[in-house]
Amino acid sequence: MFTLGCHLSSAKGYLRMAQDAASIGANTFQFFTRNPRGGRAKRIDPADVAAFAAFAESHGIARILAHAPYTLNPASDKQQTREFALMVLGEDLARMEETPHQMYNMHPGSAVGQPAEAAIAKIADALNASLQVGQTTTLLLETMAGKGSEVGGTFEELAAIIDRVDLDGHVGVCFDTCHVWDAGYDIVGDLDGVLREFDHAIGLGRLKAIHLNDSMNPCGSHKDRHARIGEGQIGIDALSAVTNHPKLRDLPFYLETPNPALSGYAEEIAALRKARA
Ligand code: FE
Ligand code: FE
Ligand code: ZN
Repeated sequence: MFTLGCHLSSAKGYLRMAQDAASIGANTFQFFTRNPRGGRAKRIDPADVAAFAAFAESHGIARILAHAPYTLNPASDKQQTREFALMVLGEDLARMEETPHQMYNMHPGSAVGQPAEAAIAKIADALNASLQVGQTTTLLLETMAGKGSEVGGTFEELAAIIDRVDLDGHVGVCFDTCHVWDAGYDIVGDLDGVLREFDHAIGLGRLKAIHLNDSMNPCGSHKDRHARIGEGQIGIDALSAVTNHPKLRDLPFYLETPNPALSGYAEEIAALRKARA
């Protein structure tokens, strides 16, 4: 099964996202839990969730992925910023249980002036305060480009966070191809080697989702500028090698490529499905 979708607007609710996904040949999707720059989350409508569940069932839509707002920074040395992160994490994880057994992805955080170790400890503290024994949602930490003082630009940093989390059975990793490439991992020249490094540092069993993006910049640039599939420096051959890799092919893939309209995603999805072996 090739589980492939893209980032969609959540403004019109879950059913509409599932319908949008189905209309462009996708069988999963990603969405923001709230405004990506923060702000309040909209109330979840139980009727919308029920209609979504029925539509998803009949259209084979699985493993949807929520994305936390970018402003979340549990690593901050400012107490107010950490408290905001705890509030959002608590609220979002509770909301996720209204659509059980899905995934919630977050950027680990930024150290801004602190040593990486201190930032890593604060992120783990926030996860320990937020994860619940009985939750059905898997929280994913995203691999980052290493822009500025971002935590998670190396596999070792993600491993160091997970090592400190008590309920680590609820924690996985989302592998963003643009970010990993920008962070300096050569997925074009040596995908197997990068996956070996991931396995050594984190364990491939933790890998639960892929953000499939091309990159505007060269490997190691630490820029984080996404490009459409085949229009960047990674290229469609390397990206379809990711979707076809025996260790990755059964994971869900989510496009986060710059497309002003759904038709752009539809083209990329068609091209990737055609290149699927
Ligand atoms: Fe992200
Ligand atoms: Fe991403
Ligand atoms: Zn990015």
